[in-house]
Amino acid sequence: MNRLKQGSIIVTGAAGGQGAEQARRLVANGARVVLTDLAEEAGERLALELGNAATFVRHDVSDEGAWGPVVQAALHAGPLRGLVNNAGIYLAAAVLDTSPELMERQFRVNQLGTLLGMKHAGAALRDAGGGSIVNISSTTGLRGVANAAGYGGTKWAMRGMTKSAALEFAPFGIRVNSVHPGLIDTAMLDGRRGQDLTERVRHIPLGRLGTPADVAGLVVFLLSDDSHYITGAEIAVDGGLSL
Ligand code: NAD
Repeated sequence: MNRLKQGSIIVTGAAGGQGAEQARRLVANGARVVLTDLAEEAGERLALELGNAATFVRHDVSDEGAWGPVVQAALHAGPLRGLVNNAGIYLAAAVLDTSPELMERQFRVNQLGTLLGMKHAGAALRDAGGGSIVNISSTTGLRGVANAAGYGGTKWAMRGMTKSAALEFAPFGIRVNSVHPGLIDTAMLDGRRGQDLTERVRHIPLGRLGTPADVAGLVVFLLSDDSHYITGAEIAVDGGLSL
């Protein structure tokens, strides 16, 4: 895991779900982690659990002014090595029912938040001589999904922005990749539990929901030097759902 050790990594949306598991794995691999989220209580609790290696910063990823303190906290913790743009919201709606407000809310967190993260952490990573950025998109960013045109639009955009940033950042030694989770058992699925979800799980070739741990291993790999020749890639971690 090499340069992850002693270095600092920013993980957004890390108060629970996948981000929390990524933070735990990163700390277990010797990294220092800056956890950010809107959910203060859960974020502080996780930072306490992880000890000296973790700091929590309350942060709205869609607020450009809030990124400065996050990057400063990471630089304070150690040389910045990477960023996981993990924060996201999912608001299901059919195209015919999608209001501009519903579209804009998802755009601001998922798409604009990712752009701002790449912009602000990217500048610090360039100054530090390189690093790795991982954008958590979705299988909804790889294929069409009904009732998810708004959410999926932002996740397809994340996939595209990843490739543009990978080209721009390559000269600085910064790699940028997108990860595309399938159905992962977190609070994000809470509104969908029941018959509909059971039916969808039946279509997953590996036959089960994913867990945050299934995704975290890939994220740690992409942040580490073990993946040093991988950039601009899109990797599904979905039990075969998108096949
Ligand atoms: P989750 O709801 O448990 O976690 C999302 C976190 O993002 C929450 O802690 C939330 O407070 C935080 N957040 C929301 N808005 C924010 C903002 N403006 N600023 C900072 N933090 C904010 O869900 P999860 O499954 O852990 O989601 C993690 C990522 O994985 C998201 O980007 C999501 O779109 C993506 N994803 C999830 C699934 C799934 O099935 N769970 C599938 C594909 C992709």
